[in-house]
Amino acid sequence: MYEIYGLSKQIKDKIGEVNKLIYPEDSHILQEALDNIYEENTPPLIEYRIKRKDGKTVYIGANLEKIRNSDGKTIAFVGTAQDVTLHKKSAKAILAAKQRAEESETQFRSLFENAGLGIGYYKPDGTVISYNKIASKNMGGEPEDFSGKSIYDIFPRSEAEFYYKRIEKACITKEPDVYEDKVSLPTGDKYFLSTFSRIIDSKDKILGIQIISQDISEQKNNEIEIIEAKKKAEESDRLKSAFLANMSHEIRTPMNGILGFSELLKKPNLAGDEQKKYIGIIEKSGKRMLNIINDIVDISKIEAGLMELAFEELNVNEQIEYTYVFFKPEAEAQGLDLSFKNSLTTEEATIKTDREKLYAILTNLVKNAIKYTKEGSIEFGYNLKKTNDTTYLEFYVKDTGIGIPNDRMEAIFERFIQADIDDKKAYQGAGLGLAITKAYVEKLGGKIWVECNTDEKSEGKGSIFYFTIPYKAERPIIPIEDNFDLLKENIDIRKLKILIAEDDDVSELLLEETIKTFSKEIQKVRTGVEAVEVSRNNPDIDLILMDIRMPDMNGYQATQQIRKFDKEVVIIAQTAYGLSGDKEKAIKEGCNDYISKPLNKTELLTIIQKYF
Ligand code: ADP
Repeated sequence: MYEIYGLSKQIKDKIGEVNKLIYPEDSHILQEALDNIYEENTPPLIEYRIKRKDGKTVYIGANLEKIRNSDGKTIAFVGTAQDVTLHKKSAKAILAAKQRAEESETQFRSLFENAGLGIGYYKPDGTVISYNKIASKNMGGEPEDFSGKSIYDIFPRSEAEFYYKRIEKACITKEPDVYEDKVSLPTGDKYFLSTFSRIIDSKDKILGIQIISQDISEQKNNEIEIIEAKKKAEESDRLKSAFLANMSHEIRTPMNGILGFSELLKKPNLAGDEQKKYIGIIEKSGKRMLNIINDIVDISKIEAGLMELAFEELNVNEQIEYTYVFFKPEAEAQGLDLSFKNSLTTEEATIKTDREKLYAILTNLVKNAIKYTKEGSIEFGYNLKKTNDTTYLEFYVKDTGIGIPNDRMEAIFERFIQADIDDKKAYQGAGLGLAITKAYVEKLGGKIWVECNTDEKSEGKGSIFYFTIPYKAERPIIPIEDNFDLLKENIDIRKLKILIAEDDDVSELLLEETIKTFSKEIQKVRTGVEAVEVSRNNPDIDLILMDIRMPDMNGYQATQQIRKFDKEVVIIAQTAYGLSGDKEKAIKEGCNDYISKPLNKTELLTIIQKYF
């Protein structure tokens, strides 16, 4: 006691001396303990500070205990004191250290959080010790949602297993492992870069695992986009080359036919049937060439966003029958059995849609069916289908041809794509037909797809192309009697005085030959200015066939001029652009009608017949 208090044994008033040493702010502690000692049963355990004579502060831990006589009466007490300075200091140090650690832990965490890093601590058995805010947010929750949970509660079983293996591995490896993951979350797919590292104590005991993760979805998505864009660019490069090679082949082949057989036609003494045969080839080649050009123009229109729709009432049954009549000879020539099925009555089959587009879709699909079928049959038609909120017509074109491999069933609808790109020599075509068809179907509000023809009766694999268009029933149109037989060439109309405004020799000659039979006089001019001039001087002209692209003044301007003095004369515009909207433009500029080049004789005669 003397040692602890730093007092000499000689002092008399021991309590008084001790009291002098106690820190004034602590003196009440001892006093209260002494005051209460007789009342309280439990001996007080107290702690106070003293300042020793040598200047040292000492923490005293004291214990006061009562001593009782045989009657249980307290007769004295004994005090024990202990120098607890060291304990006190280390406790303080521990407290301070703990506080500091907590502060630095928060600093540490916020460091990660500011950097957008998620940290999660796991026990070696996969139980979450804690997640920081970011880690919780990444996983779609708050930190308290995860603490104490097992990864098996957090992730689906197979994923949890997968992550558990990593934790296991991280417990063993000394170097951190870095992983990149795609994680499916309810909010969508995310990409994370995570570092797994073990946490050990000073004795090399494994306490757990730390996972630092970073959401790299944005970079990753950008990266994926770039890769996809690059792939697309490469693919489109490849397609472009394939397209050019293919186009070149597709255009040269018919040109070869046209030029080659025209040359052969020049041979003197050519027999009549040979001549016929050559002309037949030239005609066929020309048609093929026109097909290609039409396809290119159509696809360009689609790509340039120039495709427009003209909705009108039409009868689906008629369209189907027309397609059938059109393709019947070709199918028969190939030994194919072509048939169609109309499933609605004429009245029900009247709908409002774009006639030309529907016709182009049907034509393309039936044409392909014939092209890709060597033997067997082709059937096409439609059915009325209903879902909860829509009614639509589902058309089909079913063939027993070469079929389409499953993995090409989507690609063939892309432009320039053929089911078998290496085999392109076997079937002529530019791979545009279906791309155009698809664009038309979609524009009309439908879908298009292809399936295998699993019809047991059919031989070979075969395909069934389907497409839908919305069904909007219309009041039936009463068919107008065809009072002029359009296809007859020896039509009976009065002889006309005709002006041909055309700057191209070949076109001019063709027009002249075509209209010769029903003209009494033909005048020819080369420019718009001349066309206006000749019209002014010849008010008895019945019909003007007006080319649009002419030198000096174009056909539209010439028409406007002519309309100033002659409202009666029938003016038919002829353009080579083949754009939809041409007709509307021609009529707006004052023409009565429009015909597109290359000139179709029947079409021209039909129009002339209509006006005369
Ligand atoms: P193409 O001008 O090559 O015929 P399309 O776009 O019309 O172009 O067709 C694309 C490809 O789809 C064709 O090259 C062919 O491989 C495939 N295809 C189209 N229709 C059929 C069909 N009825 N049967 C089998 N293959 C077809």
